[in-house]
Amino acid sequence: MAIRIIGGGLAGSEAAWQAASCGVPVTLYEMRPVRGTAVHKSDRLAELVCSNSFRGDKLDNAVGLLKEEMRRLGSLVMRAAEASRVPAGAALAVDRERFAEIVTQTLAAHPLISVVREEIAAIPDSSSHAPVIVATGPLTSDALSASLAAIVGQAHLYFYDAISPIVLADTIDRSKVFRQSRWDRSLRTKARLKPDTTEDPTTNDSGSVRLQPDPLSCGIDDGEGDYLNCPLTRDEYEAFYRALVEAESATVHDFDKERFFEGCLPIEVMAHRGPDTLRFGPMKPVGLIDPRTGREPYAAVQLRQDNLAGDHFSLVGFQTQIKWGDQARVLRMIPGLEAAEFVRFGMVHRNTYVNGPTVLAETWQVRSRPSLFFAGQMSGVEGYVESAASGLLAGLNAAALAKGEPVSSPPRTTAIGALAYYVSHANPAHYEPSNITFGIIQALEKAPRGKKLRNLALSERALADLESWKARPEGRALHASGGTVPSTDAFGGTAPSTDASGGTVRSADAAGDAQQPSGVADEAPHPSNVGDDLQVVPNT
Ligand SMILES: Cc1cc2nc3c(=O)[nH]c(=O)nc-3n(C[C@H](O)[C@H](O)[C@H](O)COP(=O)(O)OP(=O)(O)OC[C@H]3O[C@@H](n4cnc5c(N)ncnc54)[C@H](O)[C@@H]3O)c2cc1C
Repeated sequence: MAIRIIGGGLAGSEAAWQAASCGVPVTLYEMRPVRGTAVHKSDRLAELVCSNSFRGDKLDNAVGLLKEEMRRLGSLVMRAAEASRVPAGAALAVDRERFAEIVTQTLAAHPLISVVREEIAAIPDSSSHAPVIVATGPLTSDALSASLAAIVGQAHLYFYDAISPIVLADTIDRSKVFRQSRWDRSLRTKARLKPDTTEDPTTNDSGSVRLQPDPLSCGIDDGEGDYLNCPLTRDEYEAFYRALVEAESATVHDFDKERFFEGCLPIEVMAHRGPDTLRFGPMKPVGLIDPRTGREPYAAVQLRQDNLAGDHFSLVGFQTQIKWGDQARVLRMIPGLEAAEFVRFGMVHRNTYVNGPTVLAETWQVRSRPSLFFAGQMSGVEGYVESAASGLLAGLNAAALAKGEPVSSPPRTTAIGALAYYVSHANPAHYEPSNITFGIIQALEKAPRGKKLRNLALSERALADLESWKARPEGRALHASGGTVPSTDAFGGTAPSTDASGGTVRSADAAGDAQQPSGVADEAPHPSNVGDDLQVVPNT
């Protein structure tokens, strides 16, 4: 009985601690300093590659709730963060060196953990008694990526995150844009548009088609679409196109070396394929009618609300690698965005991750090979805390599997359970790594009025349900049975107590390689809470 963990980042370190705390010997393989990555600077485990913040630390904040749940599950990452905390208002920020040093020393000193500094180039064999956790992060080494692709399928492994620019709503010129969903497929509107066949094409020199409400469609268009549309005339489009192909972009120069997915090509790469490529891609005007002309524009850029407050809008499908100065200049050529202020510029950055819903069960086991677990950013979550949280659950489950005990996941009413559920059950067709949000936690049947009160009520229920889950046989087995969680740990704190809802559980037999995970496909997502992107995918 032993567990091998590949990658000593936030997820791998937490997984090692959890598994060893359950009494299972762990070998943790970390390739640094033998082989570095483009962003890590030291040989320490759990190095924070960028910001030193673990974000909000209050219970009216989803990541604050996730952290509290992790504390209650004995998280090493949370203990090390507390011990290296620096002043940061309502956020939990740390002295990054002290944080990583604490994690490194704690793991090195654990009698059941061996840290081996070695690059693992292929996923090793695994079995129920000797599970393997892969937690190699967004910068998974090339050799291991090839091995991963062979296991999960090339189509389910991604190498880049494509991020569209976001503008401040107040800075959009509303006199030039119009609100509408394509074909009026808005949540609020029922009417559809159809081409106006009564129009004489010889009198229409714009090359565009006039649209009119389709009387066969039900309901009435109330004019409230979900998108703000920036219409472009032919002249405007051509000027924009010229500026785009001349703009300085990291992508176009390196394009041959990069492996982008056709579905999320940077706009400048599309533009280099021909003048009309964008008009058939993210700037397609079909299904949109400009109320000022009564016509479909020559081209259009769609802006979608990006946050609940409605003060941020993203440019749909406008991922780009154009240098930021040029990016602002070129994007301000779009009608309506002349004075736009950018909250975030578009980016395409390296991020190795799997299509979670296709590949993983909610226990972080690979569906096709349950003795193999993925955790951290490469499993399809986003962020330090989320990566560590997935490692926590993967570590507990791998330990349970090794000991012949049932694997389990806390209920979807908890943040950690909701994250596991999102990764394993979101819509695989549009899968994107996600931070924890209250939106993916199962909705309250009766929610108090007001966002803050609602969030606090969700947190209260989550913590109560986590405690109930911990007290149930499967939670107890997973969390502490036969474990060696010390009553007093290296930081002088006391170990979490175990006590008592829901959650998912699978017998050890069902969880091993003999059988596929059964999952929770019978649990329908709450429609008012999760939106289109979360759907139940039957386990194979
Ligand atoms: C540039 C960048 C900046 C980011 N900034 C933030 C931020 O500010 N805030 C935030 O919340 N999130 C941020 N993230 C996202 C993410 O939260 C972090 O990348 C986080 O470190 C992920 O944790 P992890 O454990 O999955 O991966 P990592 O922490 O990267 O750990 C993976 C480990 O695996 C090792 N490894 C890789 N391949 C092998 C191999 N073949 N054999 C052995 N070891 C291997 C690596 O050396 C590394 O130590 C950022 C990501 C990137 C790429």
